[in-house]
Amino acid sequence: MLKVENLSVTYFQDNLKTRAVKEISFVLESGQTLGIIGESGSGKTTLGLAIMGILNSNAKVDGKIKYSGVNLRELSPRQLNKYRWKHIAMVFQNGLETLNPLLTVKEQIKECITRHLKLKETEANRKVNDLLERVGLEPFVADCFPQQLSGGMRQKVLIAMALACDPKVLIVDEPTSSLDAISKAQIVKLLAKLQSEKRFAMIVISHDFAVISSLTGKICVMYQGCILEEGLTRDILKNPLHTYTRGLINSSPSINPYQDLWGIPPANRPETSDGCPFYPRCSQRLDVCKDKKPKLKYVSLERRVACNQGGIVTLLEASGIDKTFTYKGRSIFACKNCHICVRAGEIVALIGQSGSGKTTLASILSGYVKADKANIKFQGKEVSPHELTCRPKGIQMIFQDPFSSINDGFTVEQAVMEPLDILKLYSPQERKERAKKALSAVELSIGNDFLQRRCFTLSGGQRQRISIARSLILEPKLLIADEISSMLDPSTQANILRLLKGLQNSFGFSMIYITHDLDLARKIADKLYIMHQGEIVEEGPAWELFEKPSNEYTRKLISSAGLL
Ligand code: SF4
Repeated sequence: MLKVENLSVTYFQDNLKTRAVKEISFVLESGQTLGIIGESGSGKTTLGLAIMGILNSNAKVDGKIKYSGVNLRELSPRQLNKYRWKHIAMVFQNGLETLNPLLTVKEQIKECITRHLKLKETEANRKVNDLLERVGLEPFVADCFPQQLSGGMRQKVLIAMALACDPKVLIVDEPTSSLDAISKAQIVKLLAKLQSEKRFAMIVISHDFAVISSLTGKICVMYQGCILEEGLTRDILKNPLHTYTRGLINSSPSINPYQDLWGIPPANRPETSDGCPFYPRCSQRLDVCKDKKPKLKYVSLERRVACNQGGIVTLLEASGIDKTFTYKGRSIFACKNCHICVRAGEIVALIGQSGSGKTTLASILSGYVKADKANIKFQGKEVSPHELTCRPKGIQMIFQDPFSSINDGFTVEQAVMEPLDILKLYSPQERKERAKKALSAVELSIGNDFLQRRCFTLSGGQRQRISIARSLILEPKLLIADEISSMLDPSTQANILRLLKGLQNSFGFSMIYITHDLDLARKIADKLYIMHQGEIVEEGPAWELFEKPSNEYTRKLISSAGLL
């Protein structure tokens, strides 16, 4: 029904050229609902205005907008008027600015009807009343001025105006921004009802995943004028494939009611004109991304992703892990055919009761315990985990007990530098500099007095920060944290966790967080693996498992923690 091909919009102002939409293509089928989501300034509204053909004269539009086979961009203004509002209509955001404060609701809707439908006075009046009823407004609203109405009522008036000519495509721009929760729910319900009654195709432009997920079957994720991911709404919510989409979902309190919200980290590299638009903020960027702009490509039947690496990469893929300990002639199965998969920038919580095999599995993954059998791939290559802990950009583990994991007699500086000393990496001076950087990252002093303090004089919380700094000094891609806060008091525990999550967010490493504490897991994890008697019994996105656990043991675990 609507086919957008290589659409670009460039604004020219005061010798400045801004490319708001860059070579976008998508298809909207009849009766389909499509969400356009992205942060402010991603080009969403410009895209809607371009489809309507109502951009300001300082905007240059390139590409095709085909409606039922007709390229609207080739039509004269007069011809285009036959399509605008009658075939494609738009509900603008911010009713107070859009509606005329000098005209009543009735006058404004009627003006729209008479201009496009050429109805007689009595028919037009009847149509106004019908439209108000359809959007759930009382008849008295017809005689009100916009400023006499609430935000939700004004939004309904705008919807009534857009539906006045029974369009086949409705574009709705930020339908609920600045509305309270009740009005927001009403507008979402109303749009869903109208769409299912009239079966018009709908494009919902929003930065709010809750709105998009309630109203659309398909999503395009926009960033800096480009589509970075496109797919079915339910698939994208469950398994985002672009780092930007994942960041948006993780920043949405309605989709992520339990996790602490961190937002997508700001750019820490300069923008590139030729490369990937998300390069300055991407946690898995490669050097090539600076100069190579990724194309939006199919990665499965219904999913397209614009990423030089095909989307979020799988960092660790481990399967078939077996480990049996023999004690007094008895075999104890610590891990039975265990598997785990960690993607770049992801926090995976490995949950289970004491003795469930979590620490054994973590120790195998970090090379401290040898498995009887295991297939372990890191960044797509088969490896022995031991190799990965002995080099930068591999795997590092932080242990539960901060008192036994650091040599008491070391100074702070020696303790943090030790991994570099053992691996003989960098010059002695550079090791010291790197140790200071790692200490700053974990918010510890880098003054000489502190650097020369012996570790036995430090508190548990300080030692745990030193352990984290020791791990960070090797710039790991994956950090395994084994019950790292369980020996700390609640306040120190909260500080350590916040610190770790903050570091993960800004450095972009992945983390396996081992815990028996479901409250903590709920706050930080993207994905959960539930372990019981040496086996992984359930896995899935954290929000889904906490809401709908399917395994009986998981249900028991979550309900005994009072979280179900
Ligand atoms: S990996 Fe490269 S291409 Fe993919 S999103 Fe990150 S910066 Fe862009």
